[in-house]
Amino acid sequence: MFKDWFDLVEQQLAGGTLSRGDAHEILAVPDAEVMDLVAAGARLRRAYFGNWVKVNYLVNLKSGLCPEDCHYCSQRLGSEADVLKYRWLSQEEALKQARAGIEGGASRICVVASGRGPSAGDVERVAQMVDELKAEHPHIEVCACLGILRDGQADQLKAAGVDAYNHNLNTSESRYSEICSTHTYEDRVGTVEKAKQAGLSPCSGLIVGMGESDNDVIDTLFALRTLESDSIPVNFLMPFGGTPLAATKLLSPLRCLRILALARFTCPDREIRMAGGREMHLRSLQSQALHLANSLFLGDYLTSEGQAAKADLEMVADAGFRVRCDQGAAQEPATDRQPEVAVRRRGAGTELAPNA
Ligand code: SF4
Repeated sequence: MFKDWFDLVEQQLAGGTLSRGDAHEILAVPDAEVMDLVAAGARLRRAYFGNWVKVNYLVNLKSGLCPEDCHYCSQRLGSEADVLKYRWLSQEEALKQARAGIEGGASRICVVASGRGPSAGDVERVAQMVDELKAEHPHIEVCACLGILRDGQADQLKAAGVDAYNHNLNTSESRYSEICSTHTYEDRVGTVEKAKQAGLSPCSGLIVGMGESDNDVIDTLFALRTLESDSIPVNFLMPFGGTPLAATKLLSPLRCLRILALARFTCPDREIRMAGGREMHLRSLQSQALHLANSLFLGDYLTSEGQAAKADLEMVADAGFRVRCDQGAAQEPATDRQPEVAVRRRGAGTELAPNA
């Protein structure tokens, strides 16, 4: 129970735990009051993260050709999405891509590979790359995202200098089997637990816009709270042609803000990332979302193009925020907005310069 949104903020700052009833109220806030909710959430965001924005940069080490069948994914088994497909990048190419992100202002490099989980050789390959990257940039954080981990692999990654491990829950336990049949929700939780036990910072989030109910969104965020995920990427479904969810377009910008506000109120002191699909679904409200989220991906995603990296940095600066490890925010005006999924044709796996 709370009097108004700022009263709820005070409760959270005093160590309160968001209740399910309060969570439903956040998701049901009328359109006319969404900005009041954002203003209150901004107070929480600033209490823990000031005016800093953490910039993350994705390097897709291995693209497509996945044997798993996650319905939302352009890299899934049977996907007809015309995305880049390649096996592991060379060490040299992977480092080149990571350097581009760092030069663009990223303080965390997220190295990602499609597939059910890494082989022993894959872990070794990532370890070598991280070793070299850390030698050049000791203060850069590295987050690995390689799928389901077997016993001992998280420890190997930790020993190699990896800082964090990403494995998203994606949706609620009760509807997980509707979005994937080749692995389970428990598999995902198990990998996050392995990462935590190895001392890796757990990064785990969700995808919204897949037809989930309010209860599903709340279940997922409350599960992430219980798992103590340090960073929570909130992805907004990008409905790739050639995937089972190609026709699923359910989000509005205000719905996205409500969900980001719920993430902030549920996990006030955790990194909330406005992640994949923000351009498509938040559209002109992206900068308002920065008052709730304190983190974003710079430039392109794994298989789709984001807005120009310069536009990302400009948006951060325009909204009065600063990039953590600020390496200079671009000042050129935003020009390109992408209303539909634009399949990535530049950066990793191509001859073209990355969007960084
Ligand atoms: S395991 Fe990862 S890469 Fe493979 S289909 Fe699922 S989300 Fe896509």
